[in-house]
Amino acid sequence: MNSSSSLFKLLPSVDRVLQCSALAPLIARVGQQSVKLATRSYLHKIRSNIARADDRTLKSLGSENLFYEICLAIEVRVNNEFASSLIPVFNLTGTVVHTNLGRARLPANAVEAMGVAATEATNLEFDLNSGKRGDRDVHLEQILCDLSGAEAATVVNNNAAAVLLVLNTFALDKEVLISRGELVEIGGAFRIPDVMKSASSILREIGTTNRTHLRDYESNVNANTGLIMKVHTSNYEIRGFTKSVAETELSALAKKKNIPFVADLGSGTLVDLKQYNLPHEPTVREMLQMGTDLVTFSGDKLLGGPQAGIIVGKRELVEQLKNNPLKRALRVGKITLAALLEVIKLYKDPRRLATRLPLLADLTRPLAEIEEVAGRVQLELDKVLQGQAVVELGPCHSQIGSGALPLELLESIAVEISPIAQKGQTDAMLNTLAANFRSLPKPVIGRISDGKLIFDLRCLRDEAGFFGQLQKLSI
Ligand SMILES: *Cc1c(COP(=O)(O)O)cnc(C)c1O
Repeated sequence: MNSSSSLFKLLPSVDRVLQCSALAPLIARVGQQSVKLATRSYLHKIRSNIARADDRTLKSLGSENLFYEICLAIEVRVNNEFASSLIPVFNLTGTVVHTNLGRARLPANAVEAMGVAATEATNLEFDLNSGKRGDRDVHLEQILCDLSGAEAATVVNNNAAAVLLVLNTFALDKEVLISRGELVEIGGAFRIPDVMKSASSILREIGTTNRTHLRDYESNVNANTGLIMKVHTSNYEIRGFTKSVAETELSALAKKKNIPFVADLGSGTLVDLKQYNLPHEPTVREMLQMGTDLVTFSGDKLLGGPQAGIIVGKRELVEQLKNNPLKRALRVGKITLAALLEVIKLYKDPRRLATRLPLLADLTRPLAEIEEVAGRVQLELDKVLQGQAVVELGPCHSQIGSGALPLELLESIAVEISPIAQKGQTDAMLNTLAANFRSLPKPVIGRISDGKLIFDLRCLRDEAGFFGQLQKLSI
């Protein structure tokens, strides 16, 4: 056995590694500095392994090709370092607007506008007529007002920010009346009571979980009431012996007491979804017609645009929102603004919306078409998984997701993969199978249910890409 000092001598110098011809293309791509740092840290690791008499390291030092093996290991390290962390995936979960998978996919016209806004100087906040400073909201305000019937509009970072801004502007250290039945949590961090706290508003819970009456609101209005708020209970439904107060009644009460009436619509939409054979969801226009002073909603839920929060309503109130210093902290960037504007323009032509807006195209995809996709996917998966799993087709229900219409499900078709496992091994095999699909170059995300791995095919568009990587699936 060599002494460790003689083993150290087997290692090349950093400079020699950098001269290695196999690393030249890598250095040309990422620059000498990154490869140098990776080489230093890799050689350092090997030296400490030698000092610890690590078996594997000692064995590899005996290799004839030691030098090239070291170069190769460094190449792998640098490539990993430069690999993107944010990558595209196949969303076969059955949840179309999936928050963890980035919600809405944007239409081509929006992507193009983002490119322009990103690469060029723009008149983002510059009035080309006067040559003076302008307002970034002007680009969207008119079209939002046209489509919703509102007097004014403003845009912030997301709907959570929209709610926060409204509360902070009209109910700072004041009470906000909200029905107990509407104290929603929208997955993880957004809970109405917590947002109230962050905005320094005082939550005044009205009525009971299942029944709230107008008199409950009336008897709780006092000199310190900032606003009345209605939250669209977008991800659950209270059934049975229930009562809530209509927007028109709340609006009349708010007017009488001279306080604003605000609705957080969550997943707001600008068109009646019934025309696309989807369940009706209250539109922003309907909310305003019922007397709501301000409506807040998301840009990337049912609207199908980029992450944003939109606030529309009375001009006087929107002006106050714009003058709140918090607006500056919550405002949207130019790239978002450019994308949102293009998405909203598509709403001017509702007839073609379902073909132009990817979200609506997915939601309205004909069952027969999904069935055809499913048939082809079953065939290919069956070949790849032969002997490992049974691949069948079955009916399933897609969800719109992100809190929109939780109880309304869309009929769809899934491939259901059941591993051929010994008793007691099914769960482990299912998890491995799901993990293997997730480790493909473009990860495939499904869901596990009833001992099967389920891929809902509603959102599979790039079949060639899907089939093309299947031979890389480890089984
Ligand atoms: C989703 C939702 C929010 C939060 O909207 P984001 O755009 O995710 O910030 C707030 N309120 C309701 C009712 C929602 O459904």
